[in-house]
Amino acid sequence: GDFPIEVDTLVIGAGPGGYVAAIRAAQTGQKVTIAEKGNLGGVCLNVGCVPSKALIEAAHNFEKAKGDEDMGISSENTTVDFSKVQSWKGGVVQKLTGGVQSLLKGNKVDVVKGEAYFVDQNTVKIMDEKQSQTYKFKDCIIATGSRPIEIPNFKFSERVLDSTGALELKEIPKKLIVIGGGYIGTELGTAYANFDTEVTILEGMDRILNGFEKDLVQPVKKNLKNKGVEVVTNAMAQGVEETEDGVKVTYEVNGEEKTAEADYVLVTVGRKPNTDELGLDEMGMEMDDKGYIQVDKHSRTNFENIYAIGDIVPGPPLAHKASYEGKIAAEVIAGEKAEVDYMAIPLVAFSDPEIASVGYTKETAEEAGYEVKESKFPFQANGRALSLNSTEGFLKLITRKDDGLIIGGHVSGANASDMIAEIGLAIETGMTAEDLSLTIHAHPTLGEVSMEAAEVAMGRPIHTM
Ligand code: FAD
Repeated sequence: GDFPIEVDTLVIGAGPGGYVAAIRAAQTGQKVTIAEKGNLGGVCLNVGCVPSKALIEAAHNFEKAKGDEDMGISSENTTVDFSKVQSWKGGVVQKLTGGVQSLLKGNKVDVVKGEAYFVDQNTVKIMDEKQSQTYKFKDCIIATGSRPIEIPNFKFSERVLDSTGALELKEIPKKLIVIGGGYIGTELGTAYANFDTEVTILEGMDRILNGFEKDLVQPVKKNLKNKGVEVVTNAMAQGVEETEDGVKVTYEVNGEEKTAEADYVLVTVGRKPNTDELGLDEMGMEMDDKGYIQVDKHSRTNFENIYAIGDIVPGPPLAHKASYEGKIAAEVIAGEKAEVDYMAIPLVAFSDPEIASVGYTKETAEEAGYEVKESKFPFQANGRALSLNSTEGFLKLITRKDDGLIIGGHVSGANASDMIAEIGLAIETGMTAEDLSLTIHAHPTLGEVSMEAAEVAMGRPIHTM
């Protein structure tokens, strides 16, 4: 046997959950080791949030460079060097993962390369290709993240892609089939459509972006149509046949079998937690039937000294949720009073236009027993949106009828991903519609849309009737 190394806090996985937890733990004086079997930054920085947003932006720039008929701008022969797009994207990823490495070092977090496996409640083995080392910890934070779900008959390959494969293509496909119209499928499908790929989205349910309210998705559907993206709902993917230079996908719609051909098929039908290869079952870790670890408000598992955060616990699988939980877990270990509160967690799809949502919807608020008002303000009535030539969409505020307390906000439109931060802040700080309406917003900005929605809630908006 090897000599065990003793640490205070061991973090397993260096994604946005784990690395943030490690830094916060170190800041509170804990001696921290973080184990990572792959790359620092996890899915989010390497093959998720960051490269996908870079690709979306590049595609958007290409689309814009082709001109704007309304504004009288046209250009011929707009070209894209896709290998440059890819290397630029790689550079963005590298800057951020390099940043994580410096931050961990700066906070004196010990970084260990290797795969962790639990021996017991206080012990893990960390293995790399060459050796195995035992670590004894006082407390442990598990942050091993998730991986794409593979569906029967669609084994991942050169042509049957998961999101990672779709982000790393060497060429712009002529045709792409996307199975699954969730936010990842919609984001990547839209990016390639902007690069002039002919995109078909096959969605099993009756609508895409199912996690968002219908009216928010409407502008996205319209834009997809304008881009020539075919969205087929109630489509059950059956199988794929790889041809010499592409794929042939069979699917069923209303009992009718259909086929579609493309260069590639991207399968984005969800992700599953990486909790099956850690020895957790053997240890008696409480998990649900899908493998999600059960935790309390302190991110604590059924073991008093073991915490779990991010994509491996229930809730929306999002980077900012993972980081938030990571900070809470680290603070709880330090003896601070901290617990999770998901009331104001934003959900964002970087679709076109972007959709963002925080807090209650009218429906969930009423289910929770609140009497609420939904106040909408259209981008069309906003000067900045008009000058951006980006007038589709709206923002709606959910306020409590009796006191005007803001308990939800939903945006579909340009920059929704940034605009939602203000509503999150309003919810966190207990602002009312009046507070928001009295906050002076610079003119002309998209930010004014939330102020005006608050005035709608007050019953006296200036720029809408
Ligand atoms: P991960 O980021 O998955 O990190 C887990 C880490 O643990 C990995 O590095 C893994 O190698 C390591 N690990 C696993 N097992 C072990 C082991 N036994 N020993 C050692 N190390 C181990 N979220 C957003 O909020 N916004 C977005 O715009 C967004 N876009 C996305 C786009 C795509 C294409 C994808 C796939 C995801 C996107 N997400 C986005 C989701 C986001 O990436 C995840 O929610 C987030 O990465 C989860 O963080 P995590 O720390 O829980 O796990």
